[in-house]
Amino acid sequence: MTNDGTWGDLAEWVAYLKEIGVRDLGAAPVVRGAGIEALALVRDDLGECTRCKLHAGRTKIVFGVGNSHAKLMFVGEGPGAEEDARGEPFVGRAGKKLDEMIGAIGLSRAEVYIANIVKCRPPKNRDPEKDEIETCFPFLIRQIEAIAPKVIVALGSPAAKTLLGTRTGITRLRGHWHDFHGIPVMPTFHPAYLLRVYTKENRTKVWEDLKAARARIDE
Ligand code: SF4
Repeated sequence: MTNDGTWGDLAEWVAYLKEIGVRDLGAAPVVRGAGIEALALVRDDLGECTRCKLHAGRTKIVFGVGNSHAKLMFVGEGPGAEEDARGEPFVGRAGKKLDEMIGAIGLSRAEVYIANIVKCRPPKNRDPEKDEIETCFPFLIRQIEAIAPKVIVALGSPAAKTLLGTRTGITRLRGHWHDFHGIPVMPTFHPAYLLRVYTKENRTKVWEDLKAARARIDE
């Protein structure tokens, strides 16, 4: 930990997690921005993971997809039924909405990277539990380290709370910049929530958040 009480670097943080006994972090932290080879290393370390109880109900591990040098990374909460069947994040209705959101800021799915806080589907689409997040999150940290995005957009409350280490809900977090180990984070509503509560007000808020993210990566 640095003198000002913050974690200076993801690699340092991963080392700390090992120190406090977080299980199975796999190999040493990857080199920041090392891209596809580093991601492959993380995937190898994950293997056919049975580290937490979510493995019991999954069909496929949903590791993450996209550009290994993406400037913009989206982080959701966990795979749903279609994602579990296909092994790819955000491929159902919410995925289609996310594709529209990405397109609205002039990018394509192939240009960004998309992953989740946990890589196996929670039963009945419940929120991931604390022990599951603690076990799976270090692998996401290593993915973030490998990609080194300029900006992360956290989709929904569980993703935002995990990345930012807070109990504050998405309604208060969204619309403001936060920090994840030196990487700016913009929380916004999960596309599944947006589909459920498809109001002009919510659409406008998500649009504002995405515009802010786009402006930040263009700086
Ligand atoms: Fe492993 Fe993550 Fe799946 Fe748990 S959710 S079994 S830690 S890959």
